[in-house]
Amino acid sequence: MEGITSIKPFSHIVNTQIKCTSCGHVHDGICIDYHTAIESKRGRGTFNLVMKCKDCKRDMTAVLMNLPSIEYTEENGSDFAKLVGIKTTGCEITGFVLEKFTGISEGGAPIDEIIIDEDGSFADYIDATDETVSIMEYDTKIEFTRSK
Ligand SMILES: [Zn+2]
Repeated sequence: MEGITSIKPFSHIVNTQIKCTSCGHVHDGICIDYHTAIESKRGRGTFNLVMKCKDCKRDMTAVLMNLPSIEYTEENGSDFAKLVGIKTTGCEITGFVLEKFTGISEGGAPIDEIIIDEDGSFADYIDATDETVSIMEYDTKIEFTRSK
């Protein structure tokens, strides 16, 4: 990142690809919305996504853990930052799209819209503080953790 001190996801909706862990069916274009609260029928809590697998009809649920409060900053450097955590049951996340962010420039100006283009970069000019800001490299990865 050049001239940008931090970025965070713009939206509270994450577009994901999820895979049913029972039958392996892959569901594309599943949007998980942080502000959607769905009560589980069996009283197992509240989820951001509850759906049935098209193939095996099993329940799949997902909860977004920390969106959009986590920021990626220069301090965590060229490494990956954990921007979104998704807790799932009955399915696993096999892909997601996260390409729109907001940020803060080094001069302290808010950057309302950072949209990473297809080659993984972004560049803009901020009038107010006369700054050029850019992102040269962007990559995402998914890490799996197990919990009880
Ligand atoms: Zn299934």
